[in-house]
Amino acid sequence: MGVDIDWDNLGFALIPAKEMYVSITQPGAGWDAGVFRPFGPISISPAAAVLNYGQGLFEGLKCQRARDGRLLLFRPLDNGRRLAEGARRMCMPEFPPERFVAAVRETVRRNADYVPPYGKGSLYIRPCQWGTGAVLGVQPAPECTFVVYVSPVGPYFKTGFRPGRFIFMREYHRAAPKGMGNVKAIGNYAATLYPAKLIKAQGFNDCIYLDARQDQYIEEVGSANFFCVKGRTLLTPALGSILPGITRQSVMTLAREVLGLEVREMNVSVEDALHADEAFCTGTATVISPIGTLVLDGREVVFQRGEVGPVTRKLYDLLTRIQLGEEEDSWGWTMSVE
Ligand SMILES: *Cc1c(COP(=O)(O)O)cnc(C)c1O
Repeated sequence: MGVDIDWDNLGFALIPAKEMYVSITQPGAGWDAGVFRPFGPISISPAAAVLNYGQGLFEGLKCQRARDGRLLLFRPLDNGRRLAEGARRMCMPEFPPERFVAAVRETVRRNADYVPPYGKGSLYIRPCQWGTGAVLGVQPAPECTFVVYVSPVGPYFKTGFRPGRFIFMREYHRAAPKGMGNVKAIGNYAATLYPAKLIKAQGFNDCIYLDARQDQYIEEVGSANFFCVKGRTLLTPALGSILPGITRQSVMTLAREVLGLEVREMNVSVEDALHADEAFCTGTATVISPIGTLVLDGREVVFQRGEVGPVTRKLYDLLTRIQLGEEEDSWGWTMSVE
């Protein structure tokens, strides 16, 4: 490989790759054809809507190198569709999902040297869309920018597939009903920095947010969706103010169609979770992360004596093997970058 990277010590810190894709749209004109440029700063006005009013969205997906060397993406069209939905919600022109996939594929192709060797991690792909035109009052930007950049990242479970310590967040909410919790709006993540700092200082891996109306139903982790297993049933919070995760959708399908579990999207209460047999959270970055301990107001529940539960393990193996092209993919989820 042509790049000087220590593949054995990758974490989740930015390692700039070679090229990024940039496309711009202006009023009356659609998205331009876009260009590939060396990864680096872009120039925008201090009055840009994204800087002043948070008119911005992001996406995240991964490309992995299969054992046979193929470069595999996972459900990229779904990320493109989700970005387009977010754009509608934030009054930005939609970047067509098919063009999104083409831009992602070409960005990976041009940065193929940065995809870690088989088993050493993945190329994290970060598409963004921002209102970059200048505004003074609160209004949609007259110009938007779509960017795709990439960075190699390590495997999420560097120290093994270990259950983490999670706490129900009592002091803060992530998103309100009818707000923007269902899109990857950049401001949602700024809102989680402070709560995350508090609970990490107490030794937790992450916190689980509760619903803003009754403070009793589970929403999600700040960047991952929540699941729990009770007997042969898999429970997960229904869509609403949570982010419709692509990993979440995939896990529900695998649970139903491969493991034969009953899957229920519903209002999952904290008591449902505390009485479950297993719990885990899902997302592109975290894949499937087992929850070993759940804390609610000082009450502590340990699942599976702190070990990974059997359903969590099966779902993790299935999903990661499909993503690496090692398991039958009956759903057409993986896409090879030629
Ligand atoms: C991105 C994200 C997820 C996970 O979505 P995936 O499509 O599975 O990566 C879950 N919750 C939040 C808040 C997110 O931003």
